[in-house]
Amino acid sequence: MTDETASTPRVAIIGAGLAGLTCATALKGFAEVTVFEKAVFVGGRISRYQVGEFSFNHGGQYFTVSNPLFLNLVEAWQTSGLVRPWDGWIVELDNGQLINLEDQTQRYTGYPHMQAITDSLAHHCDVKISSNISEIEKQDDGSWRLFDNRGVYQGLFDVVVIATAAPDVADLAKNIDSIAGPARNIDMTMCWSALFVFEQPLSLPFDAAFVLNSPLSWVARYQEVNPHNEHDQECWVIQASPEWSLQYAASFRGRVMHALLDAFFEACDIPSVKPVTSNVHLWKHALPINTLGQDCVFDDAAALGACGDWCTSPRIEGAVLSGFSMADRVMKYLHRSDDAA
Ligand SMILES: Cc1cc2nc3c(=O)[nH]c(=O)nc-3n(C[C@H](O)[C@H](O)[C@H](O)COP(=O)(O)OP(=O)(O)OC[C@H]3O[C@@H](n4cnc5c(N)ncnc54)[C@H](O)[C@@H]3O)c2cc1C
Repeated sequence: MTDETASTPRVAIIGAGLAGLTCATALKGFAEVTVFEKAVFVGGRISRYQVGEFSFNHGGQYFTVSNPLFLNLVEAWQTSGLVRPWDGWIVELDNGQLINLEDQTQRYTGYPHMQAITDSLAHHCDVKISSNISEIEKQDDGSWRLFDNRGVYQGLFDVVVIATAAPDVADLAKNIDSIAGPARNIDMTMCWSALFVFEQPLSLPFDAAFVLNSPLSWVARYQEVNPHNEHDQECWVIQASPEWSLQYAASFRGRVMHALLDAFFEACDIPSVKPVTSNVHLWKHALPINTLGQDCVFDDAAALGACGDWCTSPRIEGAVLSGFSMADRVMKYLHRSDDAA
């Protein structure tokens, strides 16, 4: 540990998604934590997207809970108004045919949008947005120096946690094989996600659908998000299947938008209507196809760790639990370093 930080160890977390911010929150009081986020907002794959006056969840749509620790957290979020149970009518949609989804799964959404969860976590953390970390450099005394993509020095840290999608972990930790190696083995899907606002409701009976035999995989109506929506406008999020997204990854956005809109009307078997506003986004690293099978990775000798949904389960719950687990590993490491000093 560096001399000047002997009393309060300094931890850098790269990535202000759910995993990074959960880890940062859990480390509060144990270390001086700085979170670096390359985007202009926090949230990563649960961030919202602004289309005109509307904001949409264009990544994670809802989440489910299976772990008791996560359940406790979700109950606390619910009490503070950050999440709500979501009981929308979800169907399967096969070329206009509705198949009722007979599952009892309790789903939740962030309120008023998913990003509210990470906004709330970030509120209590030191987050540096628009900080694209491109290099982490090990010093002779064991500490790390961080640099952004403009080569600007971003500080000296005792421990670094990379809380990004697996391909970014592999890039950033390229010189530490114990971290980069496992991350390199993770494959991720791509996802084109389109957002459409229609002047009038489309009169579809369901709230969301898993779409079968189509370029699409998921469609969801989105009404509550804009409290100023006095005009009865209706918003839909449309996500393409991983196969289609990969095939059209290099296509022009306008072409993709039209193709997804056509596929939407075809899947719903309703006449096409021109949207008043639309946008489309490609998630280059949407969901891990395989996972590591352990909650996080940490190399004590390097004082470097990595966490995220690619570690155990490719969903919101997995990202949060991985962030907690990473904080636990860092705390153990810091205690051992204290004992050895
Ligand atoms: C289209 C889509 C739909 C989904 N639907 C669902 C769903 O319905 N239910 C569900 O449970 N899950 C869903 N997910 C998955 C869920 O969103 C993720 O599992 C979860 O948000 C991952 O969180 P994370 O913190 O591990 O990673 P991320 O959210 O990816 O966070 C990583 C952060 O690191 C930042 N970053 C990357 N590189 C750098 C760098 N060099 N310097 C600084 N910052 C950097 C990124 O900008 C990002 O903010 C969906 C994901 C997508 C994309």
